[in-house]
Amino acid sequence: MRDARHDVLFEPVAIGPVTAPNRFYQVPHCNGMGRMFPNAMIAMRETKAEGGWGIVFTEQCDFHATSDIQPYTETNLWDDGDEIYLGRMAEAVHRHGSLAGIELAHAGQDTGNLYSREVPIGPAHRPVSALNHPIQARAMDLSDIIDYRRWHRRAALRARDMGFDIVMVYAGHNNTVPGQFFYKRHNDRSDAYGGSLENRLRLFRELIEDTREAVGDTMAVVVRMAVDELMGPDGLEWHNEGREAIEMLAELPDLWDVTIGNWANDSQTSRFAPEGFQEDYVAFVKKVTSKPVAVVGRYTSPDAMVSAIRRGVTDLIGAARPSIADPFLPRKIEEGRTDDIRECIGCNICAAWNNLSAPSRCTQNPTFGEEWRKSWHPERMAPVSAPSHVLIVGAGPAGLEAARTAGLAGFRVTLAEASNDLGGRVTREARLPGLSAWGRVRDYRTGQIAKMTNVEVFRGSRLGAADILELGAEHVALATGATWRGDGVGRTLRSAVPVTGGSGLLTPDDIMEGHRPPDGPVVIFDDDGYYMASVLAELMAAEGRETWLVTPAVVVAPWSEYTLEQHVIEQRLADLGVRMLVRHTIVSVDEGEVVTRDGLGRCDRRIACAGVIGVTARIPDDDLWLALNGGVELEGAGIRSLQRIGDCYGPGLIAAAVYQGHKYVRELGEPVDGDGVPFLRERHVIEGS
Ligand code: ADP
Ligand code: SF4
Repeated sequence: MRDARHDVLFEPVAIGPVTAPNRFYQVPHCNGMGRMFPNAMIAMRETKAEGGWGIVFTEQCDFHATSDIQPYTETNLWDDGDEIYLGRMAEAVHRHGSLAGIELAHAGQDTGNLYSREVPIGPAHRPVSALNHPIQARAMDLSDIIDYRRWHRRAALRARDMGFDIVMVYAGHNNTVPGQFFYKRHNDRSDAYGGSLENRLRLFRELIEDTREAVGDTMAVVVRMAVDELMGPDGLEWHNEGREAIEMLAELPDLWDVTIGNWANDSQTSRFAPEGFQEDYVAFVKKVTSKPVAVVGRYTSPDAMVSAIRRGVTDLIGAARPSIADPFLPRKIEEGRTDDIRECIGCNICAAWNNLSAPSRCTQNPTFGEEWRKSWHPERMAPVSAPSHVLIVGAGPAGLEAARTAGLAGFRVTLAEASNDLGGRVTREARLPGLSAWGRVRDYRTGQIAKMTNVEVFRGSRLGAADILELGAEHVALATGATWRGDGVGRTLRSAVPVTGGSGLLTPDDIMEGHRPPDGPVVIFDDDGYYMASVLAELMAAEGRETWLVTPAVVVAPWSEYTLEQHVIEQRLADLGVRMLVRHTIVSVDEGEVVTRDGLGRCDRRIACAGVIGVTARIPDDDLWLALNGGVELEGAGIRSLQRIGDCYGPGLIAAAVYQGHKYVRELGEPVDGDGVPFLRERHVIEGS
């Protein structure tokens, strides 16, 4: 069953007094559920354990009211009341033979304590870093440090009593107190906790020792620490204090979980970092400690995992995103089904939803976060009792996911695609600079469909309304996508931009189809705010054009802040010489120039250019829907249901199209109460009721 080359991944690993059943380690990761949506969080973690992750951790678990990271929805362990849902999570993980870990965190000067209203604390008097709040953290004095150690110790004991197997002392990502003491730039103390490296590490050391002393050999004590911040000498570097710190504490924890910080560096997208991207920074750790080591790096390939172990980089394969995209990744390797792995595409939509304080969503895994509230399992579908014929028109992410899911459920499926290529927008966009991994959205689904005898795929088949009526399928899903509009209308401009002379605006679709403005400078007008304008700017610059990116936003690609990419996108555009004009909109496109207006309403700039590309909004390709009269009176053709899914219904993220393709099948033939809420809701307990 399993490929013998992958055996090493299934060796048990001793971590102090406990033993992990294999090397698959779901590292702590936020998910936007946490304390606000605990049932969803528990079911999500349990699914990972069921899928074979040998260690399953909580997200950041704040252990005192002085660490209140509102508006983010991580977990809390402030008092006994929090033990209920955290304990349930540990139980759920244990049901599948995995170890449950808890990450004790205190955000210190990284948070404003908006809910608790406690004054934030940290190594020094400093404005808090979160969300630019006008709030300062105060420097902890020695009595605060005594209190802090007691709170941490108490939390470790609570974790033990709840049944957790592993407790983590967390100093990673620049966002917790022991890390803030460690970093020179945050710590200007002159007492025993400031100055020398030994002093700056004192609190971290004490916390590890306190925790060990408190829990004895009932739990493993692990640490999570960043060894480099990618800031050069302005921050921590792995080859100086990063390394020295690990050497000084080398044998103290039972496991070293090492990363690069901050979170944006740790969770880099595939646009900016390949699989295994942390290895250059963390590979030294195993040479300076005899304790097991864990690293992350968006590993989705079992061969890359094995290689990292064989090369002595790591003992455990740490993963957040790969475990979100495929909770069953370990089981699939174990069962020799590696081509069934649903590989993370490294897009960070999961991170974005968390950063927006909403339950995380995954582009590749539409069931993520739906395990409890919709009882969606990532691998299983209830088989249909009477398999009817489903016709899906369009093989973009929505159509492919609908076809895959309908095939899994046992429907007879026909998938018709107008072009010769499957994948729709994903295939087109994956050819743009840095986005090739997005092709995995297509590849996973085409790979699965190819194995299904009940799914027939027709390429080069542009269906008209008459074809659909003729085909006689009982259920028809229109997944025909959307088209970028070429009139400039979007978030800022509510009516078409005036065009005099020239060819007007090109669209991203035009560019992806190979069209180009005449030779000369190009202006990209971005009123979309996510990735598209910036990748087109990269493309234009790479083709040797003088490139402008004009946006009404205050920074380029503002929404990519949520995917942790904004700063790297801006850096890349700057490196490529792209000229960025923020807080500007375009007001007219004329022959040889574009006129822009600034955020204060002044017409202040004319930019000479050979062409303008507008990245503003999209329009659904719903001609078929209109031709079929929205499904009214189709019974004569034997069609019981007609629906639009994906961008054809409402243009959106790829993640939304995949989700809709999945949802379509889950609800097919099921009575759906359109007036109600289509999922279970988390309820608060009202005191006294
Ligand atoms: P989504 O993101 O919703 O999946 P895409 O734009 O990625 O949408 O994909 C839509 C797909 O539908 C494209 O591959 C397109 O070629 C195909 N398509 C559009 N109209 C038709 C049609 N009439 N018949 C068959 N396929 C179609
Ligand atoms: Fe990976 Fe994107 Fe899913 Fe996150 S949302 S796990 S980055 S595929």
